[in-house]
Amino acid sequence: MVRRILSNAVILMGKELEITRGYLVIEDGVIKEISEGTPHGRAVNLNGGFVMPPFVNAHTHVVDSVAKELYLGSSQPQVVGPHGLKFHALESSPPSQLAQATKAALQDMLITGTLAHCDFREEGIEGLNFLRRISQPPLTSIILGRFSKAEEISELLLKSDGLGLPSLAAFSEETLEEVAAAALSAGKFFATHVAENADEMLAFKKRRHRSEVDQAIKLKCSFVVHATHCTKEELLRLKSNKIPVVFCPRSNSLLGVGVPPLALALETGAEFYFGTDNVLTCQPNMFEEISFAWKCLRLQDTSAGSEEAKSLLSAATLKPLELFKLPWGPVEEGQRATFLVLARKNNLLHLTDVYAGLVNRARADNIREVYYNGKIIISR
Ligand SMILES: [Zn+2]
Repeated sequence: MVRRILSNAVILMGKELEITRGYLVIEDGVIKEISEGTPHGRAVNLNGGFVMPPFVNAHTHVVDSVAKELYLGSSQPQVVGPHGLKFHALESSPPSQLAQATKAALQDMLITGTLAHCDFREEGIEGLNFLRRISQPPLTSIILGRFSKAEEISELLLKSDGLGLPSLAAFSEETLEEVAAAALSAGKFFATHVAENADEMLAFKKRRHRSEVDQAIKLKCSFVVHATHCTKEELLRLKSNKIPVVFCPRSNSLLGVGVPPLALALETGAEFYFGTDNVLTCQPNMFEEISFAWKCLRLQDTSAGSEEAKSLLSAATLKPLELFKLPWGPVEEGQRATFLVLARKNNLLHLTDVYAGLVNRARADNIREVYYNGKIIISR
């Protein structure tokens, strides 16, 4: 039996991330016990460090890491829109360079505490196979493919985790209905970017007499990405149709499209997660994403406090676990010992609020260890 005790810890325990000051016992890869106070027997003293669930990055495009800062001097449609600079970079970069850049992005996720990401992979079946080949377990890569012609769809659905559309405007209503039905009946994800760019969103509504969000609801999307310009009513409709939203605040800001409606999402109780979007705009670092999201939220609502910070932390860690069927759970007895251990040093000393402090200030360099099924996979 392999047994390890972590003592003097601040544990964000269970589904509610309840703060428990005490110790945690790991036995054969499973969390055997969490208790307040001091344990019997030999323990690793965390000196007030934090134990929290690992991050899930719910939206990435990792292969465009080959063209970092490509957005400079260009608008969002010019960078990532149809035939945008990004696609030119993907087509013109040699495979070895794409592989090198992507592996570095995946590695960066792992060392910054992310154990799963959901990628919208461009370039059809070839693009999907490319990312599958270089994915780096234990980081789980959930890959949603993109098709350019109808003949690709069945093979894409067979090999991928689903379809991730660049936009609803790129396809006719008939095509959307067909591919959505094909993906969902195959038990795969069907997801799309929506309401990222305000002008495009208005143009869509004018042409189709329905908003992008309402079209996504009609198609029974598994989740939608961005919703930057979503209204309160649309968030309520997404909620009642059980469709989660993935917000990407840093990418939205760097591409100049706006700030996601975080305060409204909290007010309506809509289910939301976070994603870091294109690596060409920002690193897939979830500490930075939630820290920036916190600033955006406070800009929208200065009454946001401890509870709201906890909600952001949960959206970045626990909330997406069920949708993506990930093999770990909250930090609680009986669960696999898969969690982050953060050292309480410099930036995390003298916090008057644990949740807001972690969301606002914790950084990847606070990671002391990443545990995966009881094994330490990252250690500093
Ligand atoms: Zn995206």
